[in-house]
Amino acid sequence: RKRCVRISTGSKHGFQSMSINEVYGEFRCGKTQLAHTMAVIAQLPKEMGGAEGKVAYIDTEGTFRPERIMEIAERFGVDPDQACENIAYARAQNSEMQMELLEGLASNFATNEYRLLVIDSIMSLYRTDFIGRGELSERQQVLGGFLRRATQMAEEFNLVVLMTNQVQSDPGASALFAGADGRKPVGGHILAHASTTRLLLRKGRGEERVAKIVDSPDCPEREASYIITNGGIND
Ligand code: ATP
Ligand code: MG
Repeated sequence: RKRCVRISTGSKHGFQSMSINEVYGEFRCGKTQLAHTMAVIAQLPKEMGGAEGKVAYIDTEGTFRPERIMEIAERFGVDPDQACENIAYARAQNSEMQMELLEGLASNFATNEYRLLVIDSIMSLYRTDFIGRGELSERQQVLGGFLRRATQMAEEFNLVVLMTNQVQSDPGASALFAGADGRKPVGGHILAHASTTRLLLRKGRGEERVAKIVDSPDCPEREASYIITNGGIND
C-alpha cells in the first residue's frame, strides 16, 4: 500500500495526497500565489515540507508565471531553472481541453515522479462554457466526470491535488457551505463532496491575509494568518 504524503502550503498547514484539496476565496486573496508556492515546495525534501516530487499544473486563467516560480525557488535555495523544469505546465482554453489535459497527464503520473497536481482554477472554464440555469445540470455532470477522474488519479498515483476555486459574487445567496463570513465557493454539491479539505482565504488588515480550514477530516476549524512575499506564501 502506498504511503500518503503531505506537502506544506508555505505556512504551518499542509495538504495530504490521495485526496482533493480546495482553496477558495475572492479575487487577489492569494490562491494563485499559493499554487505557485506549493509547486516549488512539492519538489523539496520532506524535512522542508516537500515530497521530492514533480508537479503538473493546469492553468485555466493564464496566470501562471515562471518568474514567480524562480523567485520562490530562491527563497528555498533551489535552482530556479530546475524548479521550472520540474513543472509540467499546460494552459486549458476550454472545459473540454481541461479534461483532455488531465487525461494526458496519466502518462506523466505513471512515472511515479509526480506528487502534486494543481488546477488553477477548477470552475472558471465550466462557468464560461455552460451559461445560465438551463445548462447547469449538464455543467455539473461534466464537472462530476472531471472530479471523479482527478480523485481516481490522486489515489492511484499518490498525488496531492490542489484546486483553486472562486466564490459566488452574491455572498448572501445561500448559507449552505458558507464560511463564517458568508463567502460560498462555486461548483455546488458535486465539488463540495469531491473536496476532502476546503481552505477559505480572505484579506485581513493591511497586507495580512487569513486562511481558514472550513472542512477537514483531520483538522478542527481554525484560522491562520499569512502574507504574500516575493518568496511566496509565508507565515
Ligand atoms: P484571482 O481570483 O483573481 O485569481 P487569486 O486569489 O489567485 O486571485 P493571486 O493572484 O494569488 O490572487 O494574488 C494576487 C495578490 O498577490 C496581489 O495582491 C499581489 O499584490 C500579490 N503578489 C503577487 N506577487 C507578489 C510578490 N512578488 N510579492 C508580494 N505580493 C505579491
Ligand atoms: Mg488566481
